[in-house]
Amino acid sequence: MRTKPLLKKYTVTLMWNVIDVLLPPRCIGTGEIVSAQGMVSQDLWSDLDFIAAPYCRICGQPFELADELSDDAECASCIADPPKFDTARSALTYNDASRKLLLGFKYGDQQHAAVTFATWIKNTAPDIFASADFIVPVPLHWRRHWQRRFNQSALIGSALAKLTNLTVRHALTRRRFTSTQKGLSRKDRLKNVRMAFVVNPALIEKIKNKHIVLIDDVMTSGATVNECAKVLKRAGAKKVSVFTVARVLRNTEYYPDTDDFDPIDEGY
Ligand SMILES: [Zn+2]
Repeated sequence: MRTKPLLKKYTVTLMWNVIDVLLPPRCIGTGEIVSAQGMVSQDLWSDLDFIAAPYCRICGQPFELADELSDDAECASCIADPPKFDTARSALTYNDASRKLLLGFKYGDQQHAAVTFATWIKNTAPDIFASADFIVPVPLHWRRHWQRRFNQSALIGSALAKLTNLTVRHALTRRRFTSTQKGLSRKDRLKNVRMAFVVNPALIEKIKNKHIVLIDDVMTSGATVNECAKVLKRAGAKKVSVFTVARVLRNTEYYPDTDDFDPIDEGY
């Protein structure tokens, strides 16, 4: 009988049409009605700043003086103090618009945005995913996870796994519930993050000589992803490529001083 699957397909389509009428898709940042789930309203879209080359080969910080730089140029910060990760790429700069998206995702009812974010992340460097072995989300402390009911980095990681045919391994755990980082100096923030992550003992053998994609929602000073990369490298990872939805640019005036983010999220 071939009519049954067809009937099922039409029933599902009809069901979604009814849901769209009753609960129209809304912008993941502003809540305005948009034409499809996961879309961003036109106004918000025009305020998003997608990061484009040229940027530092390692940390991905965009260069302001583009003309004189080659594709493999490194920024002064990476030359002076090379990070533990091999590369870091972000889809967006952190500004009012991307902040709205991330807050809607993290604290609003917009978790389906993970699919949109994963698509943007993949587009930043498809070649890196081609050589990667698996995805590791930056973990939340269990208490934070329990409060929020989900780990935003894991949601993005799962969506990315579907797009890249990679698997997600929860290879890291967070063992300290640190106090707020707000108001702390960079040095104190780094100290706060240090020792916060450990490798899941059950996955140590899986990590050795592997190229790991590390996922977080936002990168500010880079302290969190750097610490995660350090722990993974120490456990034998060959390469760690970091991806985030957005990043705070160095030398920017846009450096939020609110409690938007988790206490441990590098300064918030
Ligand atoms: Zn750099």
